[in-house]
Amino acid sequence: MSLKHIYKLDEITASKIAAGEVVEKPAMVVKELVENAIDAGSTHIHVIIEKGGKKHIGVIDNGTGIAREDLNLVFERHATSKIRTLEDLYQTASLGFRGEALASICAVSEVALVTKTAEDEVGAKVTAKGGKVLEIAEVGALTGTSITIQNLFFNTPARLKFLKSDKAEAKNISDLMSHLALSHPEIAIEYTLDGKSVFKTPGNGKLANAIFEVYDRNLMQNLFEVSHEALGIKLFGFASTFAYTKGNSTLQIVFVNGRYVKSDLIKEAIMLAYKPYLMHNRFPVCFFFIELTPNAVDVNIHPAKTEIKFHHEGDVKQLIYAALRKAFNLHNQIPEVTFSE
Ligand code: ADP
Ligand code: MG
Repeated sequence: MSLKHIYKLDEITASKIAAGEVVEKPAMVVKELVENAIDAGSTHIHVIIEKGGKKHIGVIDNGTGIAREDLNLVFERHATSKIRTLEDLYQTASLGFRGEALASICAVSEVALVTKTAEDEVGAKVTAKGGKVLEIAEVGALTGTSITIQNLFFNTPARLKFLKSDKAEAKNISDLMSHLALSHPEIAIEYTLDGKSVFKTPGNGKLANAIFEVYDRNLMQNLFEVSHEALGIKLFGFASTFAYTKGNSTLQIVFVNGRYVKSDLIKEAIMLAYKPYLMHNRFPVCFFFIELTPNAVDVNIHPAKTEIKFHHEGDVKQLIYAALRKAFNLHNQIPEVTFSE
């Protein structure tokens, strides 16, 4: 093949390449679909996964639905109801990302979307495959949207080969679903994997109830509340007693301004507070929600990234340490030391 000449890629090839940047793996598809459901004001979201999402991803919500006249746009690239201008992108409270998700997902899968708004009497069903809309038909439906993705990456064999085992992809999805459920206790989130219900949160707005449903039920009894505000940073959440520890730090889960993040800095601060009280190589469980002014963090604007950089790392570390020390005292965690004369 000669690579001497410049050719413009045909539309389908270009869209498959672009899709790869938004959806590399099934969990990224699930994230986009659930975030759309959240943006649509849903109070109930049910996610159904089969074979690590390779075979089937279903997301059913009771949100606003999509108006009939917008339906032929949903799978178009850069079609969004959430922003109009570049400035809006920085202002928006919605999770949506430039109207690229559905187009990208549709480019590499078979999609069926059923939707109905409160105003419409009947719903509509759109089917599409490999980026092409096949049919739009009227169907009976409840208000909300239900979207089904089958045979992800059927037309991009290289990407399909790159996927991990069903089990490993399912684990990524399960972690994501747990994080979504914790960061949205106000939404009833139900998660079904390979025909079995994994969890169902009540959607009553209480973090403790969400933790109880998502994780092993014994855990919640071993957590105490942590709440502190200083240096313009707010922290709320739960942390485990000295008696309840894990062999690794995977259950130190942190959200910054509502968004799940990975931060070694935060893990260090947690360990600093706990270290005097734990055995070597034991780790506490923490669920922390940190709120600070958005200018104080650099979050990579790409939605798939979870890395975060704080501008004032020292402040964050200090806040977490102080919050935990305060909670240890409040919940009688620190053993009393008696000195004999
Ligand atoms: P974005 O979320 O960035 O706008 P998407 O490609 O994810 O881009 O979605 C395109 C548009 O389709 C959204 O702006 C929204 O209007 C509509 N949409 C997608 N999913 C849903 C849903 N579950 N409920 C209501 N509207 C939806
Ligand atoms: Mg979106």
